[in-house]
Parts: sequence; C-alpha cells; structure tokens
Amino acid sequence: MLRSEPKEQTSMTDMLRAKIEAWDGDAVVVSHDRPTGTWIFIALHDTSMASSVGGTRMKAYPTPADGLEDALRLGQGMTYKWAGVGIRFGGAKGVMALPGPLDDESRGGLLRRYGALVQSLGGRFRTGVDLGTTPEDLLAVAETCDYVVGVTDGHSEDPGPFTALGVYVGIRAAVAHRFGVDSVAGRSVLIQGVGDVGLPLAGLLHDAGATILVSDIDAAAAASAAARFEASTIPPEDVYETEVDVYAPCAIGATANPETIPRLRCGIIAGSANNQLLTPDDAVALHQRGILYAPDYIINAGGAVAFAGIYEGVHDETELNARVETIEGSLRQIFAEAEAADESPLAAARRVADRFLETGGGSSAI
Ligand code: NAD
Repeated sequence: MLRSEPKEQTSMTDMLRAKIEAWDGDAVVVSHDRPTGTWIFIALHDTSMASSVGGTRMKAYPTPADGLEDALRLGQGMTYKWAGVGIRFGGAKGVMALPGPLDDESRGGLLRRYGALVQSLGGRFRTGVDLGTTPEDLLAVAETCDYVVGVTDGHSEDPGPFTALGVYVGIRAAVAHRFGVDSVAGRSVLIQGVGDVGLPLAGLLHDAGATILVSDIDAAAAASAAARFEASTIPPEDVYETEVDVYAPCAIGATANPETIPRLRCGIIAGSANNQLLTPDDAVALHQRGILYAPDYIINAGGAVAFAGIYEGVHDETELNARVETIEGSLRQIFAEAEAADESPLAAARRVADRFLETGGGSSAI
C-alpha cells in the first residue's frame, strides 16, 4: 500500500511512523477530517488508569507531523502533570491540526465530528479545553460526546480562574520558601500576560496586598488591568530586566532561556504559561543563579485539578477551590526536596511524579 502512495504522502507516512515509534506512550488515534482537511491526533500516553485525560488543542501547524509531535509531547506532559498533583488519571492530549483558518460553520462541524470520534473510544479518553479551544467549543464537542470534562447540564466551565488560584497559592509557597514569609503582602509580582489566567491572578494578588506590575502585548489589556488593580505597566521588551520578587509568566512559553536567564532580576519564576523553559537545562541555570523556579506543570495544574473534581461529581466551588489549593503543599514539598538534594525544583518534581507512578499511581506506561 505504501508503495502506491505518491512520494509526498509516503514521506509523511514515514514521518508519522517514526515519531510514533520513538514515543514512549501507549496508543495514538489518527484521523483525517475530510470536510475541513484537519488531521486529528489523540495521544494516549498512559492507559493504565481508569481513563486517560487531557485537553484538546486546535491550531494551524506548518505540517500535520508538527501537530502529531505536539500531541505526543503534550500527552506525555499530562502523565507527569496528573502524577505531580497526585491524581490517578493517565496522560493524554487531543490535537486538531487545522490546514488554516475555518469559518464558524466549518468549525462547528469539525468539533461535532471530533466529539463523535472521542465518543467512539468509549471513555478511554476524556477531554476539555486547551489552547485554541474555548468552553463554548467544548459544548459543541459535547453534543456528540459523553466524555467531555467540565461540561455539566449545558454549562461549560472556564478553567482560567481555577488555574489562577493554583498559581496564586503556588506563588505563596515560593515566597515562603525563598523569603521565609507566609504572605505575599508587600511582595512585587510582575504578571506577563493578563488574559484568562493573568487577570484573575492579578485580582487574587491585589486582594492579598502584593505590589503588582503587568505587561501585555495588548496595551489596552495591560492598561485596563493596571487601572483595576493599582498596578504599574511594564513594556513587553522590559519584562526580563525588571527587578521584582516574582516574575509570573502567564502568556507564552520558553521565556526562560539562555538569552533571558542572565538578564533576569527576579527571585522567583512562578506563572501559568506552559513550557516556560526552552530546555530542561534552563532549570539548572536558574538554580545556579539562585532563582527559584516553580515547575510549570505543577503550578499551572489548577484547572486540571478542578476539572478532575468536576469529573468525580464535585460541583461545590469551595470544595473545588480547596482541591486546587493543595498545589501549595505539593510545591512546598518539591521546593524542600530540591533544597535538600541541592537540585532544581524541576528535577524534584519529576522524582515526586515518578514515585507516584511507581507506587500510588499504579502501573504506568513510563
Ligand atoms: P489568554 O490567551 O487568555 O491570555 C494570554 C495573554 O497574554 C493575552 O492577554 C495576550 O495578549 C498576552 N500575550 C501574548 N503574548 C504575549 C507576550 N509575548 N508578552 C506579553 N503578553 C503576551 O491565555 P490564558 O488562558 O490566560 O493562558 C496563559 C498561559 O497559561 C498559556 O501559556 C496557557 O497555555 C497557560 N495555561 C492556561 C490554563 C488555563 O486554564 N487557561 C491552564 C494551564 C496553562
């Protein structure tokens, strides 16, 4: 069959095969949505738990292979995220690799067909929002699928405020470890990106008496947050040189890298952005510079923790918030282990997750 494919298709098949064979996860579902030309990849990294759970990302990638690579990497990341916060789900991720922009009607059709695909997996995969999908999109998925997390009785939950709460208590844990005080009052925190997570985070920090600085490429968003929370605004290009107690990246990834790390003038990095380090070596560089790094996949797990609670049938907001607040204890443990071993918190977080997978988490694919 391969031999009869045109050359371009053969090389794509080879690329997909090579990526999947090099991966350490359990299963990958590959589907092509003909009406929109979208490639769909569902990476089930760890299928040893009752369900494999992770959000669905929708994005235009340069090639479908790039979409697959993202699904594989993010699916593996989800296994560590669940294990790092002690939740017995396997890691997984869905990716819809769009060929380009879609109009609303095509998007709705794609989301419903995606829902039917997830439904056909019979609960092996459960999904929710991620980059490029909105709580409203998940309502469309839920029209054809019973396995959407965060949708109850036609209401789709926004994970942003839960994620913000997790980051807030994570900052509290980092401040306690780095400065020996139990409150963020009087501490300066620079929030990079005041969107779904950064804005509610600014509110929580403001209420707790922190001094807030905000930066956003959307100048109007930065100005409005600044007015609301008595914050100063920092131009995007000045973020890395600004002297603050806490730098909270809540926008893009890879902002801690060999180019920025020597310029940083913060004591702590603690924010919601995914993949904050360009490579794991950057965690070592931060440790050597004495900058305390809160591992991103732990501190930004608030939305995931809350959605796991909703999946269990918990809808009381106080109870969901209490679960999210356990991130503070998880990070305190990670910081303490890292200090005792004189290593980066990233290394300690990985050990905590590995321990969970080897013992409490049951048998794992990794
Ligand atoms: P969002 O799109 O709602 O907000 C991002 C904000 O960052 C926007 O205001 C945007 O203008 C700004 N921004 C973009 N590039 C910037 C730059 N270079 N400098 C400064 N500002 C910039 O996104 P969000 O949902 O708030 O998520 C923020 C980050 O947290 C993302 O990396 C996301 O993957 C991660 N995250 C979010 C959640 C969640 O619950 N929403 C959960 C886990 C992780």
